[in-house]
Amino acid sequence: MSTKIPFAPPDITQKEIDAVVKVLKSGWITTGPETKHFELELATYCHNDKAICLNSATAGLELVLRIFDIGEGDEVITTPYTFAATANIILHVGAKPVFVDVKPGEFNIDPVMIADAITPRTKAIIPVDFGGFPVDYDEIYQAIDNKKNLYQPSKNTWQTKIDRPLLLADSAHSLGATYKNKPIGSVADFTVFSFHAVKNLTTAEGGAVLFGDVGDLKSQKIYKQLSLLSLHGQSKDAYSNYEAGSCYYSIELAGYKYNITDIASAMGRVQLSRYKDILQKRKTLYNEYIRIFHDNPLHSRLIIPPFDSPDKQGSHHLFPLRIDGFSETDRNKLIEVLATHGLATNIHYIPLPMQPFYKRLGYHINYYPEAFAMYCNEISLPLYSKLTMADINTVQEIFIKALKKA
Ligand SMILES: *Cc1c(COP(=O)(O)O)cnc(C)c1O
Repeated sequence: MSTKIPFAPPDITQKEIDAVVKVLKSGWITTGPETKHFELELATYCHNDKAICLNSATAGLELVLRIFDIGEGDEVITTPYTFAATANIILHVGAKPVFVDVKPGEFNIDPVMIADAITPRTKAIIPVDFGGFPVDYDEIYQAIDNKKNLYQPSKNTWQTKIDRPLLLADSAHSLGATYKNKPIGSVADFTVFSFHAVKNLTTAEGGAVLFGDVGDLKSQKIYKQLSLLSLHGQSKDAYSNYEAGSCYYSIELAGYKYNITDIASAMGRVQLSRYKDILQKRKTLYNEYIRIFHDNPLHSRLIIPPFDSPDKQGSHHLFPLRIDGFSETDRNKLIEVLATHGLATNIHYIPLPMQPFYKRLGYHINYYPEAFAMYCNEISLPLYSKLTMADINTVQEIFIKALKKA
């Protein structure tokens, strides 16, 4: 068969191209006015005070840990069911990732087990809205609150400005999702979005951190600190100097190099202006998968991914289908067969305790049986805004034919 259905190509229109060309011709291509506008528009979209745009979600997650001096001797709780970035950044700052299993039969972290894992060393919790489906934020806040008495901030750091571990959401998948009618981006203390090429809204590479006031810290102060850390600790960004025609700047600390370019921000602004439509298309395609699989005689073998619930509207980033009774080997074989028929699929995710590096650190998948159960029979089908209803039907036909043979 000559069908070729890719997994997640970007949705780029002439509008993004025009916006990028305009920046290229403007004489200012790195962080500048487009980025400032993009930040304001994102904050408005998420009903929150502030957004800072950076060159990746990974950078955003790391910088939030850094502004609170989370590091050596500290623990950060997260899920094993995620991309490496979520836990790698905990190691980058010198803290210890503490994995907490997912809820039985679900892709998202278990709030009850979070409460059990909190110790006096716990400084932050990083849940992941898997596939764009929000975690149980109220239950996670409740778990944090129940263990508040254990919290031991380090002196002379921002840790003393709050009275409990931080809730830092890895919302790389969930821009546009809502939790109890509140937009993701205004639910956790800090929310980090990714604009990587495969994400719902893309700038090729990019990310943003959303926040309001946190504890005794005002959002403006947090913004300033994140800006400093993202660009070599420079008190004034290059654009302000350029505008003012002055060349004076001071280095306040040894910052990093995590700023986003105006080329990327211009692309992001167009994507955000189109985002309502992009989300709607994804939702329609997602629901079409569900309808078509429901009507199939083999549907009792399929475990359909989470629907929207009254409290949670997802952003339909992935379609993570599972096959009842399949082992890891069965699933891997099926993926190969699908590929020979021109259908690109993916696994979300190989739990981090199964990765060689994390194994060497002493983690073991046996302690995360629910994550393993979700992983071993999971196949993510193509889902992107440019997919057509006809494509969905083709995917379904190829998939069911291969499944029958398996
Ligand atoms: C993509 C992704 C990231 C990293 O995003 P970048 O912008 O590439 O740094 C982090 N967490 C999850 C769950 C992701 O899917």
